[in-house]
Amino acid sequence: MKPGALSTFNDILHHRCPRCRVGKIFHHSIFLGFPKMHERCSICHLLYEREPGYFLGAMYISYALALPVVAFIAGFLWAVTGWWITKATVWAVFLFLPLVPAITFLARVLWIYLDQTFDPDRS
Ligand SMILES: [Zn+2]
Repeated sequence: MKPGALSTFNDILHHRCPRCRVGKIFHHSIFLGFPKMHERCSICHLLYEREPGYFLGAMYISYALALPVVAFIAGFLWAVTGWWITKATVWAVFLFLPLVPAITFLARVLWIYLDQTFDPDRS
């Protein structure tokens, strides 16, 4: 049975393996610092980093996730403080920095799910 969108969203947030939906991708939560990635799923043995440079695509996802957040923070600062937009943007980037690790690792999880959707590893 194919998992539903809500179930997939839940599995992505809990960074579970895209194939078996049980094994963990990281050793600990991506929201608690810099987690180490498992090389393979402990349940179905799916190789997470399929080839060298595999996570280059995750950078695009990371950028797509980060841009709206920075824009929102900058817009909020601009509206609340009345600062010049450049100053608000610089502050928004600075305030965004603590979120960078979580966004980066979430982008990796999304990249693995995207890759497994379009080119599933059947080994
Ligand atoms: Zn698995």
